[in-house]
Amino acid sequence: MLIVQKYGGTSVGTIDRIQNVARRCLETQRQGHQVAVVVSAMSGETNRLLKLAAQIQEDPNDREVDVIVSTGEQVSVGLLALAIRALGGKARSFLGHQVKIQTDSTFARARIRSIEADPVRAAFAAGEVAVIAGFQGVDEAGNITTLGRGGSDTTGVAIAAALAADACEIYTDVDGVYTTDPNIVADARKIDRISYEEMLELASLGAKVLQIRSVELGMKYGVPIHVRSSFSDAPGTWVVPEEKEMEHVVVSGVTVAKDEAKITVEDLPDIPGVAAKLLAPLADASIVVDVILQNQSWDGTTDMTFTVPLADRRRAVDILRSTIPDLVGNEAERVSWDDDVCKVSVVGVGMRSHAGVAKRMFTLLASESINIQLITTSEIKISVVVAKKYAELALRTLHAGFGLHLPPTERGAL
Ligand code: ADP
Ligand code: ASP
Ligand code: MG
Repeated sequence: MLIVQKYGGTSVGTIDRIQNVARRCLETQRQGHQVAVVVSAMSGETNRLLKLAAQIQEDPNDREVDVIVSTGEQVSVGLLALAIRALGGKARSFLGHQVKIQTDSTFARARIRSIEADPVRAAFAAGEVAVIAGFQGVDEAGNITTLGRGGSDTTGVAIAAALAADACEIYTDVDGVYTTDPNIVADARKIDRISYEEMLELASLGAKVLQIRSVELGMKYGVPIHVRSSFSDAPGTWVVPEEKEMEHVVVSGVTVAKDEAKITVEDLPDIPGVAAKLLAPLADASIVVDVILQNQSWDGTTDMTFTVPLADRRRAVDILRSTIPDLVGNEAERVSWDDDVCKVSVVGVGMRSHAGVAKRMFTLLASESINIQLITTSEIKISVVVAKKYAELALRTLHAGFGLHLPPTERGAL
């Protein structure tokens, strides 16, 4: 078989751990498999490098930041290749431009366009473990790019897709995908199998165990993803196409995302085209507007509230302030914002065929006097925006209230 293994920062955080990873790679190879390994920077390294750049400038140039932060992974691949050799194995390290992982030129959050995996196949032919730097790529002009925080997951799955690997194993510091972040809720349960769709929702709603884009690629190219721990041999969580039995589980997981901000624009004319004119400049600036609420009109005017990523809030407000005078014809201050919010969500493919999840969710939050500011739903998720101080309480309340600490068969009816 051909197996891609991706090791996250904690798994390569010390020399001891890198040697442990080297042993795992060689063991997999000894079982007769071809092994490509994708590694992250040692834990804390990417943050350290980002802080160096921030010491020079508050808002540093993305191209130069990518040159800096990509070095974390360069160190890890070199060390791991050395560690495999030191154990008597064969290994070759590859940086993004050597593989080659071609991306677009959106520095700091580039998207992979193609991978020329021949160098990896050449390494296999020579009996080597291919050790590939995660997170980094190269654009058409030869600039170094990076794939966004957590991007090594995406490198792992993309390499697996390019090589038509049998599986992509994601080794991390927890032994699978849980019903919620096990570092926040102690009785979270490990999920054995989860659909790409649910995993995509969990990842985009705050479960950082897999980068969103890696799940998208897994789904698109049919790569089975196995999330597991590098510190044990226990089976982890398989992310796979949806299976019939999965529908019996109404709620699979709950998440919280704290990196959101809420913006309100008051007294907009209630006429066709206003929302488009208001929001288009934000989209043009690549700001993702999420939960949107438009209040009922009383006197021909309406208020609009929506969320944006916290990191983009300041830019979003600046853009709105310059757009609004054109829309309403005067300079009155209409934009307000709140950075102290979070988005709490429940996710599950079973919601498609079960009513009552929203009612249960709102009742549970009310029982803790948590005020809901905004609500948004899709076929398989319900999200609410609440004050950030309630993040953990809301997560625990929903996790317990939906019985997620119990095995799926014991959770009972809604
Ligand atoms: P790595 O460095 O290996 O990529 P990350 O820190 O990116 O690891 O992702 C693993 C972390 O994701 C866990 O330590 C855990 O705190 C967090 N996490 C959030 N939600 C979940 C979830 N539902 N299941 C498992 N882990 C989760
Ligand atoms: N080192 C990068 C980060 O911390 C990529 C990764 O670890 O996935 O975001
Ligand atoms: Mg990660």
